[in-house]
Amino acid sequence: MDFNDSPTEAAYRAAARAWLDTNAPLAAGERASPSDEAAHLREGKAWQACKADAGFACITWPRDWGGGGGTPIEQVIFDQEEARHGRSYPFFNIGLGMCVPTVMAFADDATKQRFVRPAARGDEIWCQLFSEPAAGSDVAASRTRAVRAEDGTGDWIVDGQKVWTSGAHYCDYGIVIVRTDPDVPKHKGLTMFWVDMTSPGIDVRPIHQASGGSDFNEVYFTGVRIPDSQRLGEVGRGWNVALVTLMNERLAVGGGSGTNWPELLALARATPGLGDGPASEDGGLRERIADWYVAAEGLKLTRYRAMTALSRGETPGPESSIGKIVSANQMQELSREALDRLDQFGIIVDPGNAAIQHTWFWGGALRIAGGTDEILKNIIAERVLGLPLDIRVDRDVAFKDIPRGA
Ligand SMILES: Cc1cc2nc3c(=O)[nH]c(=O)nc-3n(C[C@H](O)[C@H](O)[C@H](O)COP(=O)(O)OP(=O)(O)OC[C@H]3O[C@@H](n4cnc5c(N)ncnc54)[C@H](O)[C@@H]3O)c2cc1C
Repeated sequence: MDFNDSPTEAAYRAAARAWLDTNAPLAAGERASPSDEAAHLREGKAWQACKADAGFACITWPRDWGGGGGTPIEQVIFDQEEARHGRSYPFFNIGLGMCVPTVMAFADDATKQRFVRPAARGDEIWCQLFSEPAAGSDVAASRTRAVRAEDGTGDWIVDGQKVWTSGAHYCDYGIVIVRTDPDVPKHKGLTMFWVDMTSPGIDVRPIHQASGGSDFNEVYFTGVRIPDSQRLGEVGRGWNVALVTLMNERLAVGGGSGTNWPELLALARATPGLGDGPASEDGGLRERIADWYVAAEGLKLTRYRAMTALSRGETPGPESSIGKIVSANQMQELSREALDRLDQFGIIVDPGNAAIQHTWFWGGALRIAGGTDEILKNIIAERVLGLPLDIRVDRDVAFKDIPRGA
């Protein structure tokens, strides 16, 4: 394996770096704090538009649709360089990584012409309305239902509830999976639509988190009318559409970031240990830091493997699920150790602790979002290691006959 840039990749990296050096810097005082969501969103939208104008937004999308007309490896290179400038805005990840690619794959030309470019520029943001209170890991168990309107228009009337919808409170549009036929097995009676989040009957209720933020929402649908022209794919084939979204999710919900072993080592050197010296001299802690170092190196090499596959025009396979399992767990364990080191100061809200606390909260969230640890382990067991399949008792049963609670 050769992890070095090819001459073409090196030229692209140099161009991206030069553009970022000119356009990305923001003085400390000018930067919006992520805790001020409205200001952070405004700043993120301006940055997304600036990238789009220069061909650095949605690099793999066609230029005619507001993308950069580039390759997946160019996208990876730009992301690496952008990360060095600390310009990270989470508002666009789900829409641009998962929802709009699904629209591009299944919508008619007029819809794509209308929506893809404004999304690439960050002018309009999309959310993913899949999970429900009884359908998270098992999205195919969705109960939100759609029936044809009785007025002969062909429109659909949607009733039900979605949950954990990231960003629904600032999103303009969403893709929603609904049950259109309860008389067939669960995967066969689903249909996908795109929906205007300002439609009458949609009620978005933010969920308040322990971290103080409200990143996701409950979304209630009460008699929401959706024209049939907003259908993505065929009636009853929504699961196939969802698979395209979920395949993109594996690439979009990447590894974790935040506090890592170098910050923990620095903290251990600065805090007292069990004996007379600093904590970095304690045997137990040294061993744990060494384990986290090894895991971080393993993750780096796994990412290089995925990059090598991308640069050869291949798509990383189910084995890339290992990245999130390792990184999200490491984020949680390592930040817990760091908070312990800070003792009672660990729970104080203070700019000095903010990155560690943020890593601790997000480690837990990341272990669930985009497929829980257990679901990803199932994928690795079944599709990488070839172990026997998980037991699925509802495979050929009509959805309405699957036993459920009251
Ligand atoms: C930060 C964050 C953002 C999110 N954003 C969105 C979003 O924008 N849109 C959206 O639609 N959803 C979103 N989600 C929801 C997310 O997709 C679900 O939370 C996730 O799929 C798990 O579903 P669940 O919460 O219903 O848990 P469940 O599926 O009920 O799982 C409960 C527990 O059972 C385990 N389990 C379930 N099935 C199996 C099995 N077959 N084998 C072994 N163990 C199993 C799980 O691992 C878990 O530990 C988000 C979640 C988080 C945390």
